[in-house]
Amino acid sequence: MNSDFLDYYRCPANFVSFALTGRLSEDSGYFRFGPDVLCYGRSASGFRAQRPTEMLYDGLTDVAPDGSTLRLPFSPSETVANLRYERYASSSNGGGKRLGAGSALRKAYYTVRPILSVSIRKHLQRRRLRDWKRIPFPRWPADPNVELIFERLMVLLLKVHRGDSVPFIWFWPNGSSSCAVMTHDVEALPGRDFCPHLMDLDGTYEIKSSFQIVPEGRYTVPESFLDGLRRRGFEINVHDLNHDGHLFSDRELFFRRVDRINRYGRNYGAAGFRSAVLYRNPDWYEALDFAYDMSVPSVGHLDPQRGGCCSVMPFFIGKILELPVTTTQDYSLFHILNQYSIDLWKRQIDLITEKHGLVSFIVHPDYLLESRARDTYEALLAYLAELRSERKIWIALPGEVDRWWRERSQMRLIRRGNGWEIEGPGKERARIAYASLVGDSVVYRLEAPSLVAAP
Ligand SMILES: [Zn+2]
Repeated sequence: MNSDFLDYYRCPANFVSFALTGRLSEDSGYFRFGPDVLCYGRSASGFRAQRPTEMLYDGLTDVAPDGSTLRLPFSPSETVANLRYERYASSSNGGGKRLGAGSALRKAYYTVRPILSVSIRKHLQRRRLRDWKRIPFPRWPADPNVELIFERLMVLLLKVHRGDSVPFIWFWPNGSSSCAVMTHDVEALPGRDFCPHLMDLDGTYEIKSSFQIVPEGRYTVPESFLDGLRRRGFEINVHDLNHDGHLFSDRELFFRRVDRINRYGRNYGAAGFRSAVLYRNPDWYEALDFAYDMSVPSVGHLDPQRGGCCSVMPFFIGKILELPVTTTQDYSLFHILNQYSIDLWKRQIDLITEKHGLVSFIVHPDYLLESRARDTYEALLAYLAELRSERKIWIALPGEVDRWWRERSQMRLIRRGNGWEIEGPGKERARIAYASLVGDSVVYRLEAPSLVAAP
């Protein structure tokens, strides 16, 4: 019950003691944990709704301090897992349902897709996605619901301990306030050929990005092309196998394909994976031989497979680190929402950085061939570069985020005299922060870096 909270904050273990208020229900459903936080799963009191739009029971009213233990009407680890792994989606408002998955229509669509003009594709996709505005959960345009659960638990623990503050290991290296990653999925030959220009563009703003390569069926992948990316310090990841939209449609098919996908990963020297169209099934991820995956949206309203992990922070799915896609993809922005401004991206950045989260983008070289789209993208790059200096956002490669998050997950806070010290590989970059209570909210304060004595 304690482990996910401890993994999130990396605070001293003796600070955290959760227990249940009673026996958990047989059934699962939605309930609240305070006014603005949604949970899904089993609970020990009240009732559980089948839809997030129904009247919801508030589990916060049943929380009971018991010495230094906090009795809760649900298990934080189970509830958070239900959101991160989208287990709520199969039984609710169709949130995570694949639109017409496996249907004859969908097969027909993918068969003719390559020869459809972009305008017909846009029309068909807009029709398929037209009800997206009515989806109540996860919350558009960014949903840090998992982080809100952890924050509420922190508030309750701080009240139980009656202390001023609790130390924890800050989320990002060198005290950065948040993190951003730029990723490019290379869909077809024109996109592949645009990659050198895209590297130039990113480089103008001193932003290094990752390129996800489709290994089969879309374009040839010459060694010289991969070398060109590597030489300039960009990152290579594997994007699906052949991008036919079927990777997760059938278990047997997936396990047949995954060996080839893993082999391409080794050949490319790629540590990261992203599926086509963000199709996904976390239950099968153990077969993927990659350090990290980037296929789970935070809010999937505009993706064919809806749902979302309701989180703006990295998290583990078994041994794989998930770097969720937390902003709207360029394709959806330009061709479904018909917007060529960065206003929506800015709103999402604000919501994510408010929780110190990971701001991750998917921008396709294939869709930047149009000058209007390219101008919008350049405005985003300029804005990110501004945030890097003004808000101290760490702009990193996905592989760097993976390395940091793994190191942090092994670090520990140790008492030293009157203070605290971080132990573990990578601790030089880590910083101690303190969580404390202001009214009914938690605030974070970073410990000042230890000053080096002047010679
Ligand atoms: Zn793709």
